[in-house]
Amino acid sequence: MSEICEQIPAIVWTTDEAGLTIYGNSRFRAYFGSESHATDGLNALHPDDAITLPVKIRNARREGLDVKTDVRLRRLSGEYCWFALSASTWGDGAAVKYCWVAVERNKRAGDNFIIQRVEDSGQAGHLIASETEILEMVARGAATAEVFDKVCRLVEELIDDCFCCILELSLDRRHFRFGAAPRLPGEFKGVFDGSEVAAGLGPCGLAATSRRPVEVPDCASDALAGTAEGRLMLLNGFNVCQAKPILSPYGNTAGVFTIYRQRYAAFSLFEQQVVDRAINIIGISIDRTRHEEALVRRETQVRRSQAQLLAAQRISSTGSFTFDIQKNECVWSEELYRIFDIDPSLEPDIYAVRKRVYRDDLDKFNGELQRALSGQSIDVTFRIVTSHAALKFLRGLAKISYHVGDNPVLVGTVQDITDFKNAQEALQRGEEALVKAREDLAYVSRVMTISALTASIAHEVSQPLAGILTNANACLRLLALSPPNIQAASETARRTIRDTMRATEIIKRLRAMFARQPSTMEYTDLNDLAREVIILSARDMHQKSISVTAQLEPKALLIMGDRVQLQQVILNMLLNARDAMGDIESRPRILTVSTHVDTEESAVLSITDVGIGFPLENADKMFEAFFTTKQDGMGIGLAISRSIIENHGGIMWAEPNDGPGATVAFSIPLRSPPQ
Ligand code: ADP
Repeated sequence: MSEICEQIPAIVWTTDEAGLTIYGNSRFRAYFGSESHATDGLNALHPDDAITLPVKIRNARREGLDVKTDVRLRRLSGEYCWFALSASTWGDGAAVKYCWVAVERNKRAGDNFIIQRVEDSGQAGHLIASETEILEMVARGAATAEVFDKVCRLVEELIDDCFCCILELSLDRRHFRFGAAPRLPGEFKGVFDGSEVAAGLGPCGLAATSRRPVEVPDCASDALAGTAEGRLMLLNGFNVCQAKPILSPYGNTAGVFTIYRQRYAAFSLFEQQVVDRAINIIGISIDRTRHEEALVRRETQVRRSQAQLLAAQRISSTGSFTFDIQKNECVWSEELYRIFDIDPSLEPDIYAVRKRVYRDDLDKFNGELQRALSGQSIDVTFRIVTSHAALKFLRGLAKISYHVGDNPVLVGTVQDITDFKNAQEALQRGEEALVKAREDLAYVSRVMTISALTASIAHEVSQPLAGILTNANACLRLLALSPPNIQAASETARRTIRDTMRATEIIKRLRAMFARQPSTMEYTDLNDLAREVIILSARDMHQKSISVTAQLEPKALLIMGDRVQLQQVILNMLLNARDAMGDIESRPRILTVSTHVDTEESAVLSITDVGIGFPLENADKMFEAFFTTKQDGMGIGLAISRSIIENHGGIMWAEPNDGPGATVAFSIPLRSPPQ
């Protein structure tokens, strides 16, 4: 029993059921002191572990399991080291004994990396000193190649007939990167560097892909002899190799550590420890480089995304800011400084912004800022005056966020919308100019339309004037009689007044039609409008031998509209109908003006003639500006008419009749005045 225990590279002791030590191996004695000093290894437990271990033992016993746990044990010299402790029961039922085995853990190598203690010998001391030195190099940030080289040399120094090679894997684990092989000829680098990670490459490829150690005790008789690596080994007199994968913390292969030898010899425990420690250091070094590379990549990404953000802010003329309310800390983007026209070398300062805000907008700005600080999200447009006295329009959005750090932080953007505002204003000016041009055109068209009735108008006005003249003369004559005929004179005077009023009324209407006045919407009877236009054009129609029939809806058709504009539309329709019948000789020239209620909401006015009509495909074209089939036509009458009707919320159309001629009509919403 004691012989076996002496072989085990660990502290081993047994206790009885009461916990008293029965036996301890030499490592036990060396660590804790003489048996008399430590009657029980567990007396040397760290105070913290002394509390938890009995509980763990009790639990394990209840479950019938062995105890396996990590504990700190005090060395004779007083310092504590970590051990993996396991205890198992043995012996017969009458006298149960416990066997304790404690293996020192090398915490530096990571949680699960266990190695046996290295006995204090000259070589081991050298190993530990060199290992510490290399680890210091790693910590210092020495170049990986330098670290690898040092590791190889150390291993080669401590193990006979040993030629080391370290290979790294690229980040995508598809290619080998040569690390170090100080005692091997350059061809090894040539075979591995940049070559694909594949089992077919040889022992290293196999170890990398299988993630398991690969041992080749006799290459000449091994299947791997035919691989590139195998051939290279034999060529250089190496018949033995041991390739061990270096695993990353995530279990992926990060590299391969290989030892080539000329003759086979099993590794001693110490040599095995040397290899394991070497692999451990290589792993740490690769890890550190990868972390550094990842850090550099991250930094590059962050720098790139910062540059992108800057460019995006520049392009969109949008600056951003954060304001930590509790710390009273403000951060502005570069673009924000530019927008506010504030020196970027200055600390962000809300007072500097306030100084820029246009005085008429200052109250609004302060009010909105206050709202934002009280937790509401804001969207405010305000103006600032730059150092060159230029006015800028800005739009600010801000909201408190609790996601940046722990404090409430006001996060916001400010966009320069001056160009947008200017464009908007230009558009508005353009639209206004367009409206004005349309109005001018409508006016010209109206004047032209009415001018076409000159004869008729002259007749309308001259008729009452002639009446006035006749009546006034008659009145004078009647008064000159002796005695004067007062009754008859009064009658003629009354007729004079009547005719004067008639003439005044006509002139008033004409003035209204010719006047350039802004559109006025009022309640109007569509029938009245139709009647007035018919009267105005009556003589003209008569001269052209056209008989006009009015078939008007008996009840008033109340609409909301501009009387002058709507009369212009009706007059235009009448004159088009007149023109369409100008050459018709074969049938009576009949023109019908009719109105009716189409649906509950709209009234329809249509004018039907028996003229030349039009082909169906022109039904829409006729309403296009400058479409005309007349020699002296302008082609804007119907276009303007349709736009007037549409402005009144109605629609206008034209259709050929079943018989000769055409019908042009419009509908307009009916309105009842408020009660
Ligand atoms: P213009 O009278 O100056 O030609 P309009 O815009 O008023 O301009 O009319 C456009 C065209 O529509 C006319 O040239 C004519 O071809 C057609 N049109 C309008 N009304 C009628 C109608 N009642 N019968 C036949 N064609 C018509």
